Amino acid sequence: MKTSLICYDSGVREIILFDIDYNLVNTGKFKNNYKTRISSLLGVPLEDFLKVEQGYVKKEKGFTEFVPLDYIKYLSESFNAPESDISKAFFHDDNFKDILFDDVIGNLDNLKNDYHLGVYSESFKDYQMFKLHKTGLLPYFESDLIFIFSNKLTEEALSLLPQGCFIVDDNLPVINALKQVGKYKPIWVNRMGDEEDTDASVIRDLNELGSVLKKYSDKIFSEEFLLSDPGIGH
Ligand SMILES: [Mg+2]
Repeated sequence: MKTSLICYDSGVREIILFDIDYNLVNTGKFKNNYKTRISSLLGVPLEDFLKVEQGYVKKEKGFTEFVPLDYIKYLSESFNAPESDISKAFFHDDNFKDILFDDVIGNLDNLKNDYHLGVYSESFKDYQMFKLHKTGLLPYFESDLIFIFSNKLTEEALSLLPQGCFIVDDNLPVINALKQVGKYKPIWVNRMGDEEDTDASVIRDLNELGSVLKKYSDKIFSEEFLLSDPGIGH
């Protein structure tokens, strides 16, 4: 009896969690959009704006957390301009246009029927949810699979993730830490073509994701198949 084959065929969908910034969203482009818009509103050259803006760094336990309302307040005080005007420029719809990498929507469309899709992100939660909403990404993800923490790698955060899930992230230290924990299947998206110093699976962009996922499935399939019927392997 090939019970595992029956189980495989019954359609147990695996889970894929995606990091947001620099992975799905071209965050550099997005930042440039709102910084340009705000500096133009203030009538300040972009370079001058950037110098002042660098003063906004909120340190908590050694990492930076970006909180839009604090950022807007900081700019309002620094440039002596109304918060409401800066807020409008920051949240302007056009800032969120065309900020997804080209390979995102097509691949999420392909994957959504075969996998449960979710998010594993590190930042201020409301802001990340807003970004998902404004970029049109939110409908791709199942609400109970949206994991957004101010620090991704705490024991508590990790304990909430579904074991054995795929995690697709552009951040190599995160990928290597997850690999070390050994309970997940991390896949590094090396969009910048950096040195590939990792034991995890590596892809250059999301167009390569399908073939990596297939390799895992083939491996699990063949292992289960061989286990269930040793005769097949010989
Ligand atoms: Mg990222």
